[in-house]
Amino acid sequence: MSPDEHCPECGAPVVGQRLGCQQRFDECLAREFDDDRYARAQRLMVDAYSLQHPSDYMRSAKSFAAHLTGIYAALERRDAPEVNHAVQAWLNGPKTMPRPDHPSALRRGTLTILHVHEAGESEEHVVRVREWAQSVWEAWRSYEQIATKWIDAAIATVPSRATRPQ
Ligand SMILES: [Zn+2]
Repeated sequence: MSPDEHCPECGAPVVGQRLGCQQRFDECLAREFDDDRYARAQRLMVDAYSLQHPSDYMRSAKSFAAHLTGIYAALERRDAPEVNHAVQAWLNGPKTMPRPDHPSALRRGTLTILHVHEAGESEEHVVRVREWAQSVWEAWRSYEQIATKWIDAAIATVPSRATRPQ
């Protein structure tokens, strides 16, 4: 492998650079479609990959909001399904919102999709998705206020399944 065989977005050392990285991600996704045990990690995997490849997956403010709030809810809250539901409904309407700038490729997390791709079986896959997502979130942590602001707005707008303290 030549030294320049890296994904320019996430830094993963892969032949084929960005396309090679995408291929690994697609293979991990296909894995999940074939086996229900992988399903619970799927949303977090898509969000983490998007945050490491924001030029492709977070071009619009709405997709930016969906993936940022998704990873935040999965890692920092206990009500991720309710949050995701509220945010999705909130984003469905016509909305003009500013899209923040994303972090540079140099600081989007220490792990990449390769960490998940190398997992042996479903339990390891699920654990590795979370480890990878945690490293991505550490790189994005300065966006926490934006995430909570959007989640609060979504829950305030979509009260039907809004979360309440237990
Ligand atoms: Zn990549």
